[in-house]
Amino acid sequence: MSVDLTQWFARRTARMTSWTTFSEDPDLISLAGGLPDTSLFGADNHAALLTAMAHRQSALALQYTPTRGMKALRECILEVMAAEATPVDPHRVIVTTGGQQALDLLCRVFLDPGDVVVTEAPTYPGMLLPLAAHEADVVQIATDDHGMRMDALETALEELRAAGRPVKFIYCVPTFQNPSGKTLSLERRHRLLEIARTFDLPVIEDNPYALLRFEGDPLPTLLSLDEDGRVLYVGTFSKILAPGLRVGWLVAPESVLDKVDLGKQCADLCTASASQLFIAEFFERGDWRAYVDAQVALYRDRRDAMLALLPETLPAGSTWTRPNGGLFVWVDLPEGMDSDLLYEYALRRSVSIVPGRVGFARPKPVHHDFRLNFSACDEGRIATGLERMALAIRDIEHQGA
Ligand code: PMP
Repeated sequence: MSVDLTQWFARRTARMTSWTTFSEDPDLISLAGGLPDTSLFGADNHAALLTAMAHRQSALALQYTPTRGMKALRECILEVMAAEATPVDPHRVIVTTGGQQALDLLCRVFLDPGDVVVTEAPTYPGMLLPLAAHEADVVQIATDDHGMRMDALETALEELRAAGRPVKFIYCVPTFQNPSGKTLSLERRHRLLEIARTFDLPVIEDNPYALLRFEGDPLPTLLSLDEDGRVLYVGTFSKILAPGLRVGWLVAPESVLDKVDLGKQCADLCTASASQLFIAEFFERGDWRAYVDAQVALYRDRRDAMLALLPETLPAGSTWTRPNGGLFVWVDLPEGMDSDLLYEYALRRSVSIVPGRVGFARPKPVHHDFRLNFSACDEGRIATGLERMALAIRDIEHQGA
């Protein structure tokens, strides 16, 4: 018999749980993952860029490179930030292995066990993982159609202060939020920064989706509105280009970058050089804005297709968001309908969703909410997926009858 190695695990591992729903079953229609449609990039385009990169800089692509990232890639990041109307000093940028690593490193740098972190309710489920791993106490703030409610945020911060509980930062996905698809209004963006100033707190702005806007005018990033250097900005190439490259970035003051750099040395020394050079090659030879535009056109049609089918799919009394961009619709089922149960029954019909509970650090006993993704499947598969979901809902109703 082999020894039980789990007896030596650190205490924090007890709080580390998984929420991902990736599956390789070809019959399963996933309306779950936050996946862009990477088939749009095209195999020939992909191959040509890889060949060009190898011919021009093979040795470098196969080499370790600086922890903070390669110069060629930082220039691409500055271009993306300029497209977000947020000019940044290149010395304030560190390249990370996806935005996910930037979030993990920020938790590593800022959090001691028991520290309070304030987020939206629901929040990005992938942020709850590093928060749990770093033993944070997560306080979630109610949202409405305009994103996080500022009155609720202020009240929560006052209560936490009165209770002597230190808050380390506010974490927010202001635009086309994952999982809700909601966007923080301009007025609330200003108010959020005012509140952060009053309570003297850092704000992490996680912004993977803003360039995937289908309609309406872009809103300023929190970073571009920040007057006193308290916003830490996380960006990524995952949704505008390809998550498989695993390249993101953090914009932060030097004092933070120094520690994040040390954390990144612990984690992986540097982000894959080949991915960084591939992106630089694409920005030099291709038209990245045109590629984003092509995705926007595709996802807009898919969102419309999904929204058009929801009234006939969901039970009467359901409500859902109508996002102006991003990848997600957030659904609220009527009272009495449990989204965990729907998740299970939908899987039996070979369609997957993300149950709402994964967006909450302390889920309620019953959740009525869930997330749908419209970017990864074409319109035919969206329709079939929703037909299967309608059958799953019927199954539940019959079982309850
Ligand atoms: N933040 C948010 C809000 C996300 O939705 C995601 C991806 N699902 C990430 C960060 C991390 O993405 P990546 O590591 O691929 O950049």
